[in-house]
Amino acid sequence: MDKISLIIPCYNEQETIPYLREELNRIMSAFNEVEFEIILVDNCSEDKTLSLMKEMHEEDNRYQYMSFSRNFGKDASMYAGLRASTGDYITVMDADLQDPPELLREMYLTLKTGEYDCAAAYRKDRKGEPWLRSVLADEFYRLMGKFSDAEMVNGARDFRLMTREMVEAVLQLQESQRFTKGIFSWVGFRTKWIPFENQERVAGNTKLPMKSAFSYALRGIVAFSTLPLVIISILGFIVCVAALLFTAYVMIEQLILKNSVPGYPSLMCVILFGFGISFLSLGIIGQYLAQMYLEIKHRPKYIVRESSFER
Ligand code: UDP
Ligand code: MG
Repeated sequence: MDKISLIIPCYNEQETIPYLREELNRIMSAFNEVEFEIILVDNCSEDKTLSLMKEMHEEDNRYQYMSFSRNFGKDASMYAGLRASTGDYITVMDADLQDPPELLREMYLTLKTGEYDCAAAYRKDRKGEPWLRSVLADEFYRLMGKFSDAEMVNGARDFRLMTREMVEAVLQLQESQRFTKGIFSWVGFRTKWIPFENQERVAGNTKLPMKSAFSYALRGIVAFSTLPLVIISILGFIVCVAALLFTAYVMIEQLILKNSVPGYPSLMCVILFGFGISFLSLGIIGQYLAQMYLEIKHRPKYIVRESSFER
């Protein structure tokens, strides 16, 4: 019998857990051809989250829990859960039921065909979300798709069912600043995208306010592209060229037209070149930094999906 592991990061979710539990129990009893393992990861919640988890484990040992010593964030929880999981198929899900668990069956059947290694959910719309947040999120996905080596579907969630092989690949990426959505995409594998309509949180409030959403986006950009460093180099180059042109102009003004203020031409040339050269050198240093940054992550150089060699 196949086993599905469900990983659920939780932070102050006492209001949502009763709904979550009811929904999961419903899914598990309707889905009796597979075995389940539910890994609840508590991010050191300040409310009753952990005691609810303990209660669930006491009643039904398919529910497992672990509790962090502080809030290490959702990405660290997902990593911990993936490491602890023992299922053949593994999924990550939010506690607030914004990732509809009823998609699990469709995801499972998709993977069972053997044509895909991952069945991932994405939101078709962002109904009910603040307008500014939707606009910024759309832009973020567009830019990430263009400039990073991790292609991302707009509205993609972390919610996806993966094969054990794919999870092993994800775990090979050892970086501690984890941008999981990017990592899922970076490891490759054949992914089927399943759309669904945006769901509102069942209860409680978002644990990811605008400010952390912003730093999350920034983390994604820095983790998966070195574009900001490239921009500095380009800027340096442009300033240098501009300095050269301006110097020529000031020379002409001084030598031929003889109408400039004394001291001004030399001053301008020094300032412009100074800026240009420092930007350019920053850019060059940036390129080395980028290379070091990529090396330091010790990402695998390739990931084999299948081969005739024994492991
Ligand atoms: N979460 C977490 N640690 C955090 C923030 C969030 O474990 O620091 C969990 C949270 O309990 C939920 C999931 O991550 O299960 C998604 O968070 P939330 O629903 O608040 O984010 P949103 O859906 O608003 O982006
Ligand atoms: Mg949510």
